[in-house]
Parts: sequence; structure tokens; C-alpha cells
Amino acid sequence: MASGEGRRRLDNLVPLAALIRREMRIEKMEKPTVKYGHAAQSRKGEDYFLIKMDCQRVPGNSSSTFSVFAIFDGHNGNAAAIYTRENLLNHILGAIPHGLGREEWNQALPRALVAGFVKTDKEFQSRGMECFTLILQFFLSLLVFHSTLYYCASRETSGTTATFVIVDRWTVTVASVGDSRCILDAQGGAVSSLTVDHRLEENVEERKRVTASGGEVGRLSIVGGVEIGPLRCWPGGLCLSRSIGDMDVGEFIVPVPYVKQVKLSNAGGRLIIASDGIWDALPSEMAAKSCRGLPAELAAVQVVKEALRTRGLKDDTTCIVVDIIPPDNSIQPPTPPKKLNKLRALFFRKKCYDSAGKVSKKLSAIGIVEELFEEGSAMLAERLGNDDFTPQSTTGLFTCVVCQIDLAPSEGISVHAGSIFSTSSKPWQGPFLCADCRNKKDAMEGKRPSGVKVT
Ligand SMILES: [Zn+2]
Repeated sequence: MASGEGRRRLDNLVPLAALIRREMRIEKMEKPTVKYGHAAQSRKGEDYFLIKMDCQRVPGNSSSTFSVFAIFDGHNGNAAAIYTRENLLNHILGAIPHGLGREEWNQALPRALVAGFVKTDKEFQSRGMECFTLILQFFLSLLVFHSTLYYCASRETSGTTATFVIVDRWTVTVASVGDSRCILDAQGGAVSSLTVDHRLEENVEERKRVTASGGEVGRLSIVGGVEIGPLRCWPGGLCLSRSIGDMDVGEFIVPVPYVKQVKLSNAGGRLIIASDGIWDALPSEMAAKSCRGLPAELAAVQVVKEALRTRGLKDDTTCIVVDIIPPDNSIQPPTPPKKLNKLRALFFRKKCYDSAGKVSKKLSAIGIVEELFEEGSAMLAERLGNDDFTPQSTTGLFTCVVCQIDLAPSEGISVHAGSIFSTSSKPWQGPFLCADCRNKKDAMEGKRPSGVKVT
């Protein structure tokens, strides 16, 4: 017998199909379309890239999809670039605590990116050491196996830039070491850089850091004492101040990435990620301008073509163009620029997480792009912070914040212990490092000679 109350309740119910339709409509309204293009011209075969459109925060849940775009420009061989392409994404994802919602997940990204970059560098170097031992064994047994030697030599001395971009709906997070730039061409024609170039020649701060950590910075000397070319770090002669790999240079050439996170307006925008083959030929503005109005696939081809036209094929040249397009498709990025005040302060509405992951609004003006996070320090204590995301494994043990191995309570060393850069007055507080990662941190800060240096 249906009571009056029961009937009223039924009247208020929304049919399931309508509910799903409504949710799908909201989902569609919120979710931009991501389209990409890729183009490359190879000279040395040391540029590698990664495009992954179907990553999921929650496995099996299609509404948790995000995309990854990355460029790895190798030097002194391709081993570091290949290793980084194969492992960096997993190392980053492994450093993000489970069960986070979209916003928390994006907030946890900056720290996970730092941990993932350092872990990748550390593991690549330790594999290099295995190879070194292998070579010794070969020599000892007087069996000089040429191809193994070549492979291992490349492993020991090779290094790579890494520019790693995560697009989760309107939020773009970029982590980068080296000089493979990522620029943003926002709706309205304002171009800004989401990376900084870690080149000794151009980056005074990095020069100071490397010198203070025991590195020698100078130009290449030729006969007669004439100095030529850009500033380099010696021994090794690397022009970059940050990279993954480069065992022969010194651990003050750190893998700690500059990280920037922005939220685009619902008008969307275009990202151009490219190796220095592009940026040595084209300033950011010119690269953005050269492909405006073209769809992503053609835009990437156009940028490479423009760079080759300007400078010729002097270096590996790789370009990925990513368009983040509003769902109703009414606005196609990027349109030719309107007259806009391009002052950075007006372009970005600034909103930063502090090291505890809290949000602090710094500036709110005519915001087109919201700046959520920016940090470039090379110091791990500053980057790994004492925030709320200290990972604890399911077994209740502490976990090394870099390599994610479980630690017994007596084994964990606080990331802040003994650091003059300590951001915490409590050096016994987490996050924690294993002894190995602590050694690496000290070497990176110039507190001990590089342990893995090959002579
Ligand atoms: Zn560790």
C-alpha cells in the first residue's frame, strides 16, 4: 500500500538515466579536450620523447585520466635519455600517496616530481656502477668485449635534460632539469615560460651554487690559452647545471627539477615543449607566433621547419605541441593575439602552496592563468619539506621519501637533520631518507665528494 509520503518521495526521484546524462554533461563541460602534435629532425640521435594520453589517477576510472608529455635531450650518448624515458613516470607516480582526490593529487605532484627525478638519477647512476664493475671483470679476465664496453661507457658518462609535463584537465604541472623549455601560449596571445634554463652561461644563481658546492666553472681553453664557447663545469665540461645522469661531472650537477604548476582559464591554451635545437634558433615568442592558428599536429611540424630555416640542422630538434581546448569547442586555441597587457603580474593570478601544501593567495588581478606553485631551489630539504604528505607504508613503517623503500624507525634520517637550509626546527621530523639517499643529498650539496665519480 503506497502511502502519500511514499508517493511524494517517488515524485522527487530523478530517473537514473537522467542522472547519468546530467553527470556526463557536467563532466563534459568541465573537461577540456587535449590534442597534440610531434615533430623532430635528428642529427645525433640523442633526443627522446614520451607521450602518454591515457594515464589514470585511479586505475579503471576513466574520469581520473591525465596526460603526460616529456622531452629528454641526451648528451654523451643516449643511455641516460632512454633510461629516464622508461622510468621517470613510474618513479613520480610511486611517490604520490594513494587515495587522493584530484585537487590533493595535484598538490602532491610538486614533491613527487622532485622525488621521482632524484630517484631516476640515483638508480641510473647505480646501474652505471654495475656496468663499471662489469668492465673491470672483463678486463680481469682479459676478455675485452667491445660492444659491452661501449654500452657501459655511454651509461657512465651520458646525461639528459628532462622536461616533464602533466596535463590534468586545466591544471598544467611542469618539472624540468636542463634546457629543454616548455612555454605556454595562453588565449589572447600572452607567451610565458613554464621552465627556467639550467645553463651555466645564463643562470648566475646556478653558477654560484655549483661553485659553492666545489665545481669549477670556466670556458674551454684552446691552444694559446684562448677561451671559447659557453661556460662549462669542470671536470666533464658540461654546459648544464642540472641534469639526470652525468656521473663523470660531479653530483652538484643535480637532478632536482624546477617545478611550476598553473591552472589555465576555461579558454584553454597551447604548450610548446622542445629541445634546445628549437630554442637556440627561435625565441619563445617567435616559436609561438610561427604556428598560431594551426592545429597541434601541423603546429609542431611548422615550429621545427621554422627553426631549421633560421639555423639549419645543427642539433637534434624535437617539438611537442599540446592544445588544451575548451569542451564546447567554441574557442580554438591559439587565436592570433589581441592587444593585451603582457605584464607577468597581470597575466598570472598568483596562488602558491607553501611547503606544507597549503594554498596562499599572493596576487589576484586580471587573472587569465592562475599560478598555483613555483619552486626552483636545488636543496632537497627545501623541496621535500615537512608537509602533510609524509608517506607511510601499509606496514606502518616509514618510507624513504625519494626511493620509497621501507625503513625501520632506527634507519630513517630526517631530510632536515644537520642541514643549514633546514626549514624545520625539529630535525627528527619527517619526511625521512634512507642512508643511501642521505649520502646522495650530501653529495649534491657539496658536503662530501661525489661517491660515484668515475675516474
Ligand atoms: Zn632512499
